[in-house]
Amino acid sequence: MPTGPAVLILGGTGEARALARALVDLGVPTLSSLAGRVSRPALPVGAVRSGGFGGVAGLAEFLRSSATPLVIDATHPFAATMSEHAVAASTQAGVPLLRLLRPGWETDPRAVSWTWVPDISGACPALAELGERPFLTTGRQGLAHYRAWADRWALVRLVEPPDEAWPNWTILQRRGPFDHAAERSLFTEYAVDVLVTKNSGGSLTAAKLDVAAELGVPVVVVDRPAEPAAERVATVEAAVSWVRARLG
Ligand code: NAP
Repeated sequence: MPTGPAVLILGGTGEARALARALVDLGVPTLSSLAGRVSRPALPVGAVRSGGFGGVAGLAEFLRSSATPLVIDATHPFAATMSEHAVAASTQAGVPLLRLLRPGWETDPRAVSWTWVPDISGACPALAELGERPFLTTGRQGLAHYRAWADRWALVRLVEPPDEAWPNWTILQRRGPFDHAAERSLFTEYAVDVLVTKNSGGSLTAAKLDVAAELGVPVVVVDRPAEPAAERVATVEAAVSWVRARLG
């Protein structure tokens, strides 16, 4: 087993798990941090901790007291608060920080045909212009922004059950990745006529975009929150190189 102070990976994503795997394989000790919101999370290799740090001050204190040599923020592109805290706390504690951020879907050739909204508050008004039978894949935390649609039907896919009842909606509790055939079955079974997604990027949840294109279903995309200023890479390989350059 690797020993010594662990590289802190702020996780909750497939990239974070792949990075932990790659670093552990190189003999670099890792501590992966999860928010602790998901029951039965997919666990990375190496050490794992769960739960918030208690804001910027809590994370800065954690970094100092654990003598963490490096921090890699590999959280989801929409985990904006954690990313902001990582920048502030690593600066306070004097610990180098890298942001591992997967590319978004904005470079997809079909992106010009999608309806882009700057944040989740724009999703419901946009879908109302495009269809009657929406498929909402923007997550549990933003559901309140669809309250204007609560009296109508929607297909909603979530990892965890919603915090409140939405009696008119069909709620599917499922965790990705989602393959093309299964996505196509969902679209046709429920006669979906508009898809709403976040600009999450990556391949694990991209099949719905292919299916929407095949079926001529319009797509509403919620754009990413702004990223705080930090050194940034887009791949696990680049993050591994960054660690190697600093730890030797
Ligand atoms: P968020 O709004 O940016 O974070 C809210 C608070 O949750 C943070 O201030 C922090 O609490 C705690 N937290 C978040 N990520 C953490 C982590 N990896 N380790 C320890 N504490 C963490 O985050 P979120 O959007 O709710 O996402 C929570 C987790 O789910 C993240 O790890 C993210 O990678 C994963 N995830 C998010 C999405 C999404 O769409 N947002 C999708 C897939 C996976 P303290 O201030 O107390 O430290």
